[in-house]
Amino acid sequence: MSEYIDVIIVGAGPAGLQAAVHAARKKTSVLILGKPEQSSIFRAHVENYLCVDGVTDGGEMVKIGLDQATRFGAELVEEDVLGIEQEGDFYIVRSENRKHIARSVILATGIAKKKLKVKGEKEFAGRGVSYCVDCDANFFRNAKVTVVGNGSGAVDGALTLLNYASEVHLVARELDISRGLRQKLSVSEVKLKEGAWPSAIAGKNFVEFLILDDGSSLEVEGIFVELGAKSAVELATSLGVTLDMETFSNIEVNRKMETNLPGVYAAGDITGQPYQMAKAVGEGCVAGWNAANYVNKLKRKG
Ligand SMILES: Cc1cc2nc3c(=O)[nH]c(=O)nc-3n(C[C@H](O)[C@H](O)[C@H](O)COP(=O)(O)OP(=O)(O)OC[C@H]3O[C@@H](n4cnc5c(N)ncnc54)[C@H](O)[C@@H]3O)c2cc1C
Repeated sequence: MSEYIDVIIVGAGPAGLQAAVHAARKKTSVLILGKPEQSSIFRAHVENYLCVDGVTDGGEMVKIGLDQATRFGAELVEEDVLGIEQEGDFYIVRSENRKHIARSVILATGIAKKKLKVKGEKEFAGRGVSYCVDCDANFFRNAKVTVVGNGSGAVDGALTLLNYASEVHLVARELDISRGLRQKLSVSEVKLKEGAWPSAIAGKNFVEFLILDDGSSLEVEGIFVELGAKSAVELATSLGVTLDMETFSNIEVNRKMETNLPGVYAAGDITGQPYQMAKAVGEGCVAGWNAANYVNKLKRKG
């Protein structure tokens, strides 16, 4: 048997948790499905979130957010959602061990940054290996850093890092960028190494070397992997939610965070850039607020 819930939130990161706070405070039953420890902020250090001074542990922020959401009445079940189907005015949400029926669903499943998949990458993630220049550049002031990637994101990242690091290398197998950007790169101080690709990352407690498949290696204090992002939109597309026409990897939403399906909202990284906690939280607030209003209006109609 499926248990009825007013608002189901898929994802337990900043967007999902903020949506839960706002929906629960409007007296709707709220269930969060997802694993807080898998939020991309969980292992990060944050210093650009308003009203939180200094460098703060992302994992602690998620735990506090979860406490707030549950204090207001939201429930968390740490299961991944495997499928969502529309049945009339309701949505059937199937997770690992359960099935729920909901009036409204908020998709807040974030994005997954593409990995290099080389030896040492996992070991040094957060210990010199980063996937977000905008988030982490400031931690690499006056350091020697290398960006890895073939696209404009990698080049933009390398150019941005010139404002922070003492030395910036860019490693690319083959750059796939506009002529204008290549020109900008060529007159910059970024040291380009094209035609090679990382084969391993090495160090003691922190990264020290990026080893390349042409037999050379770079001495580094930081490595930024900029291979783009894979958005977690499979659930949404199989439900029939429309993606935005420019990227085909973000969910299209309006200012109310509504998707094309009635009662289905999306918030956070899954709706597109900038991939920042402040945006995720803001969108989560709007989605939670409007999802609760939607359900309460249906309830009043009877
Ligand atoms: C290394 C790093 C450093 C960062 N530093 C900063 C920073 O300093 N400042 C800043 O503002 N931002 C930073 N960010 C970005 C920030 O983490 C994201 O913008 C933010 O976490 C997005 O929130 P979200 O809720 O949209 O997604 P996430 O936080 O990624 O949460 C997604 C949630 O969805 C869940 N999920 C996915 N698929 C399913 C499914 N099928 N079923 C159920 N649940 C699912 C996941 O388990 C997770 O709980 C950083 C990111 C990284 C990777």
